[in-house]
Amino acid sequence: VTEKLFTPGPVEIPARVLRALAQRPPHHRSETFRNLFADVSKRLDRLFGTSGRVVVLAASGTGGMEAAVASFVGRDEPTIAAVAGKFGDRWTKILAAYGHRPRVVRAELGAAVDPPSWAAALDAEPAGVAFLTHSETSTGTLFDLRALAQAARARGALVVADVVTSLAVHPLRQDDDAVDVAVAGSQKGLMLPPGLALVGLGPRALERLERGGRTSPAFYLDLKRAADRAADADTPFTPAVSLILALHESMSMIEEIGVEEVWRRHARFAEAIRSGAQSSGFTLFSKSPANSVTALVPPSGVEAGAVVKHLRSRHGMVLAGGQDELKGKIVRVGHMGLAYEPQDAVAVCGALEDAAMTLGATVVAGRAGETARKTLESAA
Ligand SMILES: *Cc1c(COP(=O)(O)O)cnc(C)c1O
Repeated sequence: VTEKLFTPGPVEIPARVLRALAQRPPHHRSETFRNLFADVSKRLDRLFGTSGRVVVLAASGTGGMEAAVASFVGRDEPTIAAVAGKFGDRWTKILAAYGHRPRVVRAELGAAVDPPSWAAALDAEPAGVAFLTHSETSTGTLFDLRALAQAARARGALVVADVVTSLAVHPLRQDDDAVDVAVAGSQKGLMLPPGLALVGLGPRALERLERGGRTSPAFYLDLKRAADRAADADTPFTPAVSLILALHESMSMIEEIGVEEVWRRHARFAEAIRSGAQSSGFTLFSKSPANSVTALVPPSGVEAGAVVKHLRSRHGMVLAGGQDELKGKIVRVGHMGLAYEPQDAVAVCGALEDAAMTLGATVVAGRAGETARKTLESAA
């Protein structure tokens, strides 16, 4: 059976990217690789929207998050985090591992932290470094990144944001959005296998690295070392050459379509999934749904885990369930990257409807796919 991933990462990899991965990797100190890496670096600066520098680490996305904590938080420096799910919580866990005790501004699962309460928390007690999540993958929720980042920056904080499931999915321009450090990973919107963490360092972040003052014992994760070499489009250690060849290809795919159109494409696809699924009795879990992942509550009486199983065994579609306290409560459909065609949204909605019907819900046959198709047509 051929399966297609509709998971919140890793995502389905386009054939072009798979072919790039099969190339014989050049040596990383060769002229060929240096030229390619210089080109990739330039394109990454554009994609992140920074006049600073993007550094590439061989790590999962969490490695990039840890590098940000290790490289930017000084001893006893007050930190704050906006948390409404598993990935927001990850910032607090990494900070705790480094001996910091962040203040947490929390919203309920499925909601986003609202800018006024965030600003009020920063007013009550200033923070040196503020941690945000743009798209909270565990609940399929989009945060108002720019408003939160501007509020933190206006109050003197350095702004660090997890953009793992928003880069190349949602409109994002790091410098304009007041984000000093933006962390991404390879296996989401960039449609590569897992293995690269990308960290966008804006001008304020670079200045701060220059100034020093960091006290964590980082070596590989020391972003100063990585940033210094990145200034010459180079890396301090052996880069993940094959993944960078693939990144070169996925950046080409994004640029051929144009990043704005890539954002619009994700918006149309997500809108089609939302409308189709809702027309067959699923409800949206998030009050502020992201275009990267759609979190759905099944019709009453239908178990979320059974929906995931049904789509995999009967339709060859791999979805995800909820994590931690959302286990058994929600189904998550991932739709990041360019390996998905509009027709896939119609097919997923049809399959969700089939699952609901098979598992005992009363639904009107054919309505979900039809609704998704109409949504796509009206958006075109
Ligand atoms: C996937 C993801 C990460 C990184 O997870 P890794 O498994 O370490 O790659 C971080 N933040 C968000 C919001 C994610 O979706």
